Amino acid sequence: MEAEHFAGESVYLDYAATAPVDARVGMRMLEVLAMPLGNAASTHAAGAAAERIVDAARVQVAALIDASPEDVLFTSGATESNNLAITGTARLALSRGARPHLVTMATEHKSVLEPVRALQAQGVAVTILRPGSDGLLDPAVLAAALRDETVLVSLLHVNNETGVAQNLTELITVCAARGVALHVDASQSAGKLPLNTRGIALLSFTAHKLGGPQGIGALYVAPAQRGRLAPQMLGGGHERGLRAGTLPVHQIAGFGIAAELAATGRAEEAARLAALRDRLWQGLRDIPGAVLNGHPTARAPHILNVSFTGVEGEGLYAALPELVLSTGSACSSRTGEPSFVLRALGRNTEEAQSALRFSFGRRTTEAHIDQAIAAVRRSHAALWPMSPGQPLPLGDWPAQGAELLVGEGGALRLGTWVRFLVHGQGGVVRDARVQVYGCPHTIAASSHVRKQLMGRPLNALVPGAPEEWRLAVNAPVEKLGRMLIIEDALRAIRPAPRPDP
Ligand code: PLP
Repeated sequence: MEAEHFAGESVYLDYAATAPVDARVGMRMLEVLAMPLGNAASTHAAGAAAERIVDAARVQVAALIDASPEDVLFTSGATESNNLAITGTARLALSRGARPHLVTMATEHKSVLEPVRALQAQGVAVTILRPGSDGLLDPAVLAAALRDETVLVSLLHVNNETGVAQNLTELITVCAARGVALHVDASQSAGKLPLNTRGIALLSFTAHKLGGPQGIGALYVAPAQRGRLAPQMLGGGHERGLRAGTLPVHQIAGFGIAAELAATGRAEEAARLAALRDRLWQGLRDIPGAVLNGHPTARAPHILNVSFTGVEGEGLYAALPELVLSTGSACSSRTGEPSFVLRALGRNTEEAQSALRFSFGRRTTEAHIDQAIAAVRRSHAALWPMSPGQPLPLGDWPAQGAELLVGEGGALRLGTWVRFLVHGQGGVVRDARVQVYGCPHTIAASSHVRKQLMGRPLNALVPGAPEEWRLAVNAPVEKLGRMLIIEDALRAIRPAPRPDP
């Protein structure tokens, strides 16, 4: 039986990171695991039985991208497919004495950018193109980057963070005009957008974005590209000598079913997802500071990326316990760095740091979207009064004889900013308010410190030390720097300018 949500009671909106395995895929995998199968490379009957399952799945997987099954090889996922496509092409050219040149885009997935950077460090010439502020690559910019030595252009079809979909037809035409091989990472578009391999030399995709299992992917290799690709995994010569390793038959069988399910009714499902995406945006767009990231119409149906300028994304997300989603991409959200993809679109650090990526799939319903809208509106409304976008929260304070003091620390561009407003009377703090732009720990510690300020003498405002505040809110030691910013804000407290009467 399929669980309603695979993440407990919460609404799962992180399909671009991975989609829950479809129950029919799981059933098929269990069925295959229970069979007495041999190694698909063995010539005996048990091996042949395994090979038949692989062959059938290869037909299903190839059909999703309208390719011939013999041009599709299985890998461990799109990361490996991307590495093989890029490093394999560059290494073969190097081995033939060429001085290869690669072209890619600044907003690619890291599984493209990292092998490209590694090759660059080994002396391969590289051009990294910037898209426009809408995320789209101008075909003229691509054309201008191509050289006689260019052996490969590697481009993402649908961006995993913004959902922006490149116009592949235009980009294929540019590459074809110069006879340059094009590699497309279609991990986010396979099964969502119409896709075929005409004019494409290499195409990567992966099962787990489609309701298939994690750890299995594919690389389409056009016949003409086969002799231009050096294998990266050496061994028993599997997959036409391009990717050695015993084939994981149950994974492949699961990928096959997932691909078939994604292909069946693709257009209807894409229209349903696009309607959910638009419903979500309509429900969020009037939130103060909300900005849609990426082109408004050239986009995949299942991803919506919104910056809530003035509110830090991690802080906003922490206030949304009922939603499972990403701030930036799953790969970079652990680092706490602002999204390099949004920066490449010209968003400043603050805008990039305030982004949430919502992505949905087969199990997402209108009710989930409405829950998400309500949750974001509620948590945004709670954080917005503390936002730097708001004026000093003077409220009804400035009573006769009161002293108003204000101090701030950090900076928006650094991702952490705190401002205290203190109301003093008779030499002590009568009330204190705080505005914060920062991670959940900074918000919690600032609120903790605000409470500690009550009743303190105005000439000794700092209540304890940053390390104590860190411990009080259970923040990890790496967050000590943020606590120092709170201390800076307290030490900077000075009489505030009087508001206009
Ligand atoms: N390329 C894109 C665009 C992705 O979204 C992902 C997913 O994380 C990958 C590549 C890597 O895929 P895999 O997890 O199968 O290695």
